[in-house]
Amino acid sequence: MQYQPVKGTHDIYGKEVLGMRYIETVLAAACELYNYKEIMLPTLEYTEVFSRGTGAGSDIVRKEMYTFLDKGNRSVTMRPEFTAGVMRSIISNKLYAGDLPLKLFYSGAAYRYERPQLGRYRQFHQFGIEQVGSDNARADAECVILAVSGLQMLGFQNVKVKINSLGDAETRANYREALVEYFKGHIDEMCSDCKERLELNPLRILDCKVEHDQEIAKGAPRIKDYLTEASEKRFYETLSIINAMGIEYELDENLVRGLDYYSEFVFEIHLTSPEGKDYGAVCGGGHYGGLLKELGGPDLAGVGFAMGVERLYSLMMENHLLDDIEEGLDLYVMPVGEKVLNDAFEITMACRSFGYSTDSPFQSMKFGTMFKKAEKLGAKYALIVGEEELENGVLKIKNIATQEQQEISLENLQEELHDIFGCEEEHHCHCHECECDCDCEECDCECGDEEHECHCHEEGCHCHHHDDE
Ligand code: AMP
Repeated sequence: MQYQPVKGTHDIYGKEVLGMRYIETVLAAACELYNYKEIMLPTLEYTEVFSRGTGAGSDIVRKEMYTFLDKGNRSVTMRPEFTAGVMRSIISNKLYAGDLPLKLFYSGAAYRYERPQLGRYRQFHQFGIEQVGSDNARADAECVILAVSGLQMLGFQNVKVKINSLGDAETRANYREALVEYFKGHIDEMCSDCKERLELNPLRILDCKVEHDQEIAKGAPRIKDYLTEASEKRFYETLSIINAMGIEYELDENLVRGLDYYSEFVFEIHLTSPEGKDYGAVCGGGHYGGLLKELGGPDLAGVGFAMGVERLYSLMMENHLLDDIEEGLDLYVMPVGEKVLNDAFEITMACRSFGYSTDSPFQSMKFGTMFKKAEKLGAKYALIVGEEELENGVLKIKNIATQEQQEISLENLQEELHDIFGCEEEHHCHCHECECDCDCEECDCECGDEEHECHCHEEGCHCHHHDDE
């Protein structure tokens, strides 16, 4: 029995689960602001979806796919990316026949047989969007703007957008010819991957990470000199919209993206530290003209991006953007002695039914041990259940952080817990203009403007600025 996970895969647990969920929730919220709807796709597709969709010339299809024959002898592949699968789904379900553009977002695991290294896995998670059915430059611009705003909503301040245009089919055909001509004279000194790329996809040579090859690529013809008039016009239109939105970007002529389907506008987003250190790409995307048609659907253009969730998570950790996220518990119920175990169990269940995350030991433990456990679990309060307390109908509740202890009536447990937790948790009043009488500690609201999110429904709180007002 092997106890190690499969090479390049990793188990996600504890804080990383909370962090990854948080990232997906925030990015989904960003997408919903832009009217994108979630799509959930199978992990497995027929191999052809990727060989035709992602592209036979891409590194992913040539070297990185988990492909196997199923028991019915059909060649299937675990998705190495989502775009081709989304296109397949648009065709299978005739989604193109509804309102256009289609605006879809997705989130889930992808699989690539790559050399595992820090931040590069064989199973990883992507969050992304596809927008299909509009060939407008504004659609491309919206895609970048959404990606940037999602990253900003996650708390990233330093976002570097790199942009290039791969032009239309005519541009790429002419440029390809020029590249082959140029690299032919240098290919003997270049890496084996580049030798293959010269035949299959010479554009990808520009993306080679080998230093010597990069030096050679510096002298290669530039794509901007090959853009057709229409592609150039379209590119500058997109750039001017992005500019008008105040998004800073840099043009990167070596940005070609690894997947075959891109045309015209492509981009990558890098995150940097406040000191300017480049953490690398967390998001890549661009426009695709003929992909849906290539897969047998109508001739509709699309644009999309994909972000690496593990990379976002590790950068958020490094930049202290997830410090407030912790595994916690509202209540830890502490039965004092064997006899009260059943009562404690019932009280625990009751607390859960009131909506508080609650746990308690299944067997009796020493008081000190239980208290340590409550701390370890990150419980906010310990609810102490002893024989005497049960007889009197009054439990003790201890704030773990302040060590303050108070009594709480068993009969009115729900109301009294609500008093204790209510103001703390439900009250998000940031209002500074209204004349609200709320006497909750956190609320010194003297007013309410848009920032006012007071959800306090506490007795004694006369704040009138509830959600629905
Ligand atoms: P791509 O689909 O190659 O454009 O990748 C989009 C994003 O997914 C990248 O910017 C990375 O953040 C992430 N990503 C791609 N490949 C991997 C991998 N093997 N492991 C972890 N993240 C990845």
